[in-house]
Amino acid sequence: MNSELLQQAMREYEEKLFLKEKEASYYPEKMRELGLKNIERFIKYHPNPSRLMKLGITYAHRDLEIVAESMANNKPWAVISGLNPSGPLHLGHKTIFDELLWLQEQGAEIFIPITNDESYVVDKTKSLSDARRIGYDSVIPSIIAMGFNPKLTHIFVDSDYTDIYNVAMDISKYITLNKALKVFGFDESEDNPGSLFYRSGVQIAHILLPQYMEFGGPKPTLVPVGIDQHPYILLSRDVAERKKFIPPAELTLKFLWGLDGKGKMSASREGSAIFLTDNPNEAVKKIKSSYTGGSALATYQREHGGVAEICPIYAIQQYHFDAEETNLYTRCTSGQILCGKCKEYAAENVRKYLEKFQSVLPEAKARTGEFLLNTSIRSILE
Ligand code: SF4
Repeated sequence: MNSELLQQAMREYEEKLFLKEKEASYYPEKMRELGLKNIERFIKYHPNPSRLMKLGITYAHRDLEIVAESMANNKPWAVISGLNPSGPLHLGHKTIFDELLWLQEQGAEIFIPITNDESYVVDKTKSLSDARRIGYDSVIPSIIAMGFNPKLTHIFVDSDYTDIYNVAMDISKYITLNKALKVFGFDESEDNPGSLFYRSGVQIAHILLPQYMEFGGPKPTLVPVGIDQHPYILLSRDVAERKKFIPPAELTLKFLWGLDGKGKMSASREGSAIFLTDNPNEAVKKIKSSYTGGSALATYQREHGGVAEICPIYAIQQYHFDAEETNLYTRCTSGQILCGKCKEYAAENVRKYLEKFQSVLPEAKARTGEFLLNTSIRSILE
């Protein structure tokens, strides 16, 4: 064997093992740092925990107990999960929506703010109208196509559901500047002070909206998030206490790796995401050129196995398809399967999923009206 190639394969493998160690310690460290609890106890006592919980993808929480009590006793509870419309949804978003669907099966009333104002304020789109268009043309139909129940799902686009700004005004009275600055880490160098009002007032209004009188008053609420959104939960809990609401609970999910292997799947890194609206053939090409946890040297990979823990192809198969059923982890890490074959299989799964999903999108778009929230918030005005 060419010793230079072997040396390179060894170096790459060492690097991947290092990344695996980093990944393994990242979430436990974050849990400790943020004071979150492991989900294991909930899994033990719930008769039918979600697939993502059993896989350890939904992994931590704060105050889930209070939500679990409402779940068990058929009392009202709500879930809030906002979305920033700057482009089509991708497989990373699908992870959260899969968990929302499970929560809805457990009885949750689900609120989904489409935050086109945020897309504009933080410069993700050129204009408010661009973000609004993306929301109605792409994001909302994709959410509906996932199979939500219209009776228990309330979607709203911020710029059109303007009552949210009255709620934000109400909320703003309860936010201390000190707390907001601390939670979001702003300092004097902040060049967009408008976003402070947006982040603290409007975002917290989304989280607390289900507890306003129009939706039945204070009730347990749950916010499923990635770890980066934790500050919003902290601030909303503080405001909730001041308003005599119930502090919202948090459910934390792990990120889905992007295809470039450089972090979470994200629309802002080219080649990182598989969008739900991608042409299936294009998606297959993306999979085939993806970074993996394997080696360029087949003999080396057969001997040492792949590093599934940092492989986006493994993650896609685990989060969304059949990694468990096909025993992919063992086959990968023992070197029984190589990346070329593995990618072919994953690509077929993605192709089939996208074809099926996209076939129901037009009908989903036509049903938008069934899901839009139009409840007027009068209790703070009269
Ligand atoms: Fe990833 Fe599959 Fe290669 Fe393993 S065999 S590293 S799971 S692509």
